[in-house]
Parts: sequence; C-alpha cells; structure tokens
Amino acid sequence: MKSTTGHVQWPPSLWVAETPPGPDLPKLEGRETADVVIIGGGFTGLSTALHLREAGIDVAIVEAMEPGWGASGRNNGQVIPTLSRPDPDDLVARHGAAGERFVAMLRDSAQNLFDTVRRYNIPAEHEQTGWVQPVHSPGRIKIAERRFKQWSKFGADVEMLSRDQARDMLGSDAWHGGFWNRTGGHINPLALARGLARIVLSLGGRIYARSPVLDFIRRDDRWVVRTAQGEMSARALVLASNAYSGEFSKALAPDIAHEVMPVLSWQMATQPLSDNVRKTVIPARQAMSDTHGELYFARYDARNRLVTGGAIVAPPNKAERLKRRVGERLQRLWPQIGEVRFDYIWNGYVGMTTDHMPRIHRLGPDAYGWTGCNGRAVALTIPLGGELAKAVRGVPASELALPFTEPVTIPAHSLLRPFAPLMLLLYRYRDAKEIG
Ligand SMILES: Cc1cc2nc3c(=O)[nH]c(=O)nc-3n(C[C@H](O)[C@H](O)[C@H](O)COP(=O)(O)OP(=O)(O)OC[C@H]3O[C@@H](n4cnc5c(N)ncnc54)[C@H](O)[C@@H]3O)c2cc1C
Repeated sequence: MKSTTGHVQWPPSLWVAETPPGPDLPKLEGRETADVVIIGGGFTGLSTALHLREAGIDVAIVEAMEPGWGASGRNNGQVIPTLSRPDPDDLVARHGAAGERFVAMLRDSAQNLFDTVRRYNIPAEHEQTGWVQPVHSPGRIKIAERRFKQWSKFGADVEMLSRDQARDMLGSDAWHGGFWNRTGGHINPLALARGLARIVLSLGGRIYARSPVLDFIRRDDRWVVRTAQGEMSARALVLASNAYSGEFSKALAPDIAHEVMPVLSWQMATQPLSDNVRKTVIPARQAMSDTHGELYFARYDARNRLVTGGAIVAPPNKAERLKRRVGERLQRLWPQIGEVRFDYIWNGYVGMTTDHMPRIHRLGPDAYGWTGCNGRAVALTIPLGGELAKAVRGVPASELALPFTEPVTIPAHSLLRPFAPLMLLLYRYRDAKEIG
C-alpha cells in the first residue's frame, strides 16, 4: 500500500507511518529568481537554507519530490559524529588545515544537530542518549582504540568501553568492548526533515516541491536551474542531491552522480517491544552500529520498536529473506527478545565512495556541492549546511571546514552498479575471518 503526502507517493516506511505530513508546497513554474538556489531538499539542502535565512539571504530550494524524500527521510536516524571508516588523522593527512577544520565540525556535529532541534523546537523524537560502536571480534578492538585515541586528541567526548561495560550498555554478550561517544543519539529523520522545512518557510525561505531539476547552466553570469515547467535564476548555487543525484535526471551532474556507488540499504522496524524486554535490550536507549562490514545496527523509535536493518545480495523475495535473516540475528544477540515480528521494511540509497571519504566540490563561481555520505551523515549534514551557506556568502576557503576536491568518477560506473551488492559477500568473508 502506498501513502500520499501532498502530491507525492511516499514508499511506505516506519517514518512515513509515524510522522505528520510536511508543509504544502508549490511546484516551480515559470521564471523565478533568488540570491541562492539549492537543488535537493534533504538535510543538506534544508540546513544550508536555514543558515542562509538566519543570515537574511534570499534562498529557494528546488526539490524533485518532497523534503526528506531521499536518504534523509529513509535512514536509521542514528546521530553519529564520526565518518564510517576514516578517522581524524586520515582527514588531516589528506586535507591538511581544511581537514582539521572538518574534523572539528564533525566532532561537534551531533551536538550541533541536537542544539538545532532544541533551539527551533522541532518535534523530531530526538534522544541524545549517545552513540556506541561495539566491536564484534577481539581483533577489531583496534578500531575502537584508534578511534578513541584520535578523537580524544581532538577533544571529543569519547570513551573506551570494556567488554563488561559494553555488555551492560547493550544487554548482550555478543561484543568485546567498544567506542563510546556521549554527544550522539537518534531522531526520527523524516520528522527532522519536515521540521527543518517548516522552519525554513517560517524564516521566509522558499521551497518548491515535485519539481525535478533537469540540469543547471551558466547564463549571463548567473546560475539557471531548469525544470520541465520552470526555471530559477540565482547568483549562487548549492547542489544537495547527494546519492540521489542521478535519480531524476541523468544530465543533472553526471560527474558527481558517478563519484559514488548508490548501494541499497534496507531498514526495518520490529513490533514495539514489551517493557520487560525493552529494559534488558540497550536499556539506556543508545544508538548502536558495530564494527561488522555487514553492519549490525539498532536504535529505538519513540514507540519502543527496535529500528535495525541489513543488506542482501540477490533476489528473489529480498524483503522476506532479510526479515528472516535479521530476525535470527536479533535473537542471537538478545535471546530474551523471543519471536521477532517486523512491522515495517523499506530501503534507500547510500552513496559509497571507494575510499569512504566524503567529496565536497566547487562547481564554478559561487557554486558548491557534495556527495559520498557513506551512510554516515545525519549529524554531519547539519553543520555542513552551515559551511555551504558561508561558502556561497563569500567566506574564503581558508576559513571553511570544507576540504574541497575535484570530482573523480568511478570507472565503468554504469557497468559496475549492478554488481555493487556483491561487495557484501566480501564484507561477510572479512567479518567471519576476524572472529575468534
Ligand atoms: C537506508 C539509509 C540509512 C542510513 N542511516 C544513517 C544513519 O543512521 N546515520 C547516519 O548518520 N546516516 C545514515 N544514512 C545517511 C544519511 O541518511 C545521509 O547522509 C543524509 O540523509 C544525506 O542527506 P542529503 O540532504 O545530503 O541527501 P538526501 O537526503 O538524499 O537529499 C537529496 C535530495 O535531492 C533530491 N533530488 C535528487 N535529484 C534531484 C533533482 N534532479 N532535482 C531536484 N531534487 C533532486 C532528492 O529527492 C532528495 O530529497 C543512511 C542512509 C540511508 C539511505
């Protein structure tokens, strides 16, 4: 069954079922102008617009569907102030001073998100309970130790967890210790996207929905963003379409779309757990993602459902097979959970780069964009929007936490894309090899 908000068909998900509809929004029709135009109404686009309105800048978002329709409304909602793999030293080694500024932004990113939610009273079911990365094999304690050492050096609020502490925190014997960051937590991501959209509108920003951008060009020293029924001319441009960049128009930004492999990540939510069980499974409600390459992750929603997920290589019946696989996993991790029923299952694209690094670009005069969240940018996108807003306002690169690179496309991207799920087999092999 499909659910409808405005004029858009939303694929069913826990977040669509639990979240009140977003604001009514017009399509982009005819010729419009703005000082800054943003393509894409996910967290990046919305946060950039919010920061621009806070500075009194005229801004318009042009979104293909509705705010939050991409990764921002489909994710697990874990607010994590780290990247998936690269650690601070990797960022500094690659990007020097800009890397250091980026690390500082990332360190503060979860706090920044929760502060934004509180400042604007966004009803996003936020819980700043911390984020834990438990290690799934004795060998991988090195990951936690490296993270702890490097983030401590940069002043992050982090700790190492012993095996006993990890067991107490997670209510399971499955892990061997871990890395713990107090500033993280979780949110209802679609509620955050819709809340941010309402704030942008209330501050005088414009958001056009159901308006897929076909392309953008340079005309008379301005950027012109073109849709089937209209166009927006602006001094400056932010491309915030991320892993969905090739979804609505192959001509939008092919070099950026081909920089990432969009990998389908499945999310699923159990039935609400009974109070007795809930008190024994992650009793203090932290967000958790472990060190498996085939990631184990979980957090509670506001109704005590465990929101988790996974990936699966080949058809058929992917959803049913995944329910079985992840249900058995939950029973293995927490035998007290009993029979597991999943009330919701959905998916979304994660933009994976070959080196797990985000890619931030100058696209031309006063034009910026990024991609490559690698499944870890709910927290990051909020301050990143602040930096992109500064960039289009003319703040020099030497003051921005934006480590710019040139786009580097993945060779034979369209040929490789169908094989991307096979990477999971490699992750499973590596995960199994390191156990014991
Ligand atoms: C299933 C899943 C689970 C995840 N879980 C987590 C997690 O728990 N924690 C975490 O930190 N990160 C997670 N992530 C990553 C996180 O969701 C993303 O990093 C983040 O939402 C990116 O936001 P964004 O605004 O940059 O991109 P998006 O939210 O994808 O927004 C891009 C927008 O651009 C629009 N668009 C695309 N093309 C056009 C066009 N031609 N014209 C107009 N608009 C266009 C799309 O409709 C979309 O709304 C997950 C991602 C997925 C997919």
